[in-house]
Amino acid sequence: MSAAPRKIIHVDCDCFYAAIEMRDDPSLRAVPLAVGGRPETRGVVATCNYVARRFGVHSAMSSARALRLCPDLIIVPPDMARYRAASQQIMLIYQAFTPLIEPLSLDEAYLDVSGQPHEQGSATRMAEAIRRRIREEVGITASAGIAPNKFLAKVASDWNKPDGQFLIRPQDVAAFVKTLPVEKIFGVGKVTAGRLHQLGIQSCGDLQRWERADLLRHFGKMGERLYELSRGQDERQVETDRGRKSISVEETYAHDLPDLAACLAKLPELVDRLQARLARNGNPAYRGLSVKLKFDDFSQTTVENSGSQLSNVRFGELLRAGHARGRRPVRLLGVGVKLADENDLPRQLRLFGKDGRPLPDAEPEA
Ligand SMILES: [Mg+2]
Repeated sequence: MSAAPRKIIHVDCDCFYAAIEMRDDPSLRAVPLAVGGRPETRGVVATCNYVARRFGVHSAMSSARALRLCPDLIIVPPDMARYRAASQQIMLIYQAFTPLIEPLSLDEAYLDVSGQPHEQGSATRMAEAIRRRIREEVGITASAGIAPNKFLAKVASDWNKPDGQFLIRPQDVAAFVKTLPVEKIFGVGKVTAGRLHQLGIQSCGDLQRWERADLLRHFGKMGERLYELSRGQDERQVETDRGRKSISVEETYAHDLPDLAACLAKLPELVDRLQARLARNGNPAYRGLSVKLKFDDFSQTTVENSGSQLSNVRFGELLRAGHARGRRPVRLLGVGVKLADENDLPRQLRLFGKDGRPLPDAEPEA
């Protein structure tokens, strides 16, 4: 607590995939546009522009439903190669401001700019400069949040979206969180929000009136997080690729996968994406595979082994074991690898136990 407050910027491009499409074909700017799969193949909207959002179209919605809401909607298929090229340009811009960058996706990242000399050390002006360079060099807009920690920076980047930014100074935190709806806390989904509302808790200010022990009793491990985040406290560091412990990809399906066979059918596509993601990260060494499932009742399980072979067969074995724990329709599937850290043997032993079997995973929310 004695250290100076950190300066974290969360940068998030505005409707990224759609923005790239509009940049490359200006005739798409004025029309409702979505990037996603075809409705006849049960495709899903990945991103849509703000014109389409006025019709109620949003990401993760089925393309068929999006077209019912907005019959003039133009749906273009994703072109990941172009999005990745833009993403690399954006990452280079970030690197001009700080080496402490944690990418969350192609267009979103946390930057720790504490102590950086640029713009006389003003994080607000660094955020402005970053957004200006993205506009000028990449040709799209981005929004930014500036705050003393990751949680608040991410909330703030949404505050003046699109093409805006918002600053939460350390001395503003208490007043800011007081009225912040609990839904804005990361990890609070529909189920937890519903339970909080039942207890009469709508805002972080309401949450602050609860004792830590009572929150732990009601919400388990999540209660601890609720206690701290409702006070605007979040000590998580910006984790660069160097410090990263795992790499994973996941997909939330617009239609729940009804059974194990449906889940297995989705596996090759996820493993391909994981492979591409690893390649983008310079193919780091890894020890251990994991499969994550979220069922239709929002319960979640992760199964791991210590394998180092990225194969559909190996992931299939984990998927079978995980599915057997729930035997329900599945709304989300993820596959990942634990990165090897050759210099950190004690941690490895802790991770996998003396017998080489993985220890139960105390999984943090992504
Ligand atoms: Mg974005």
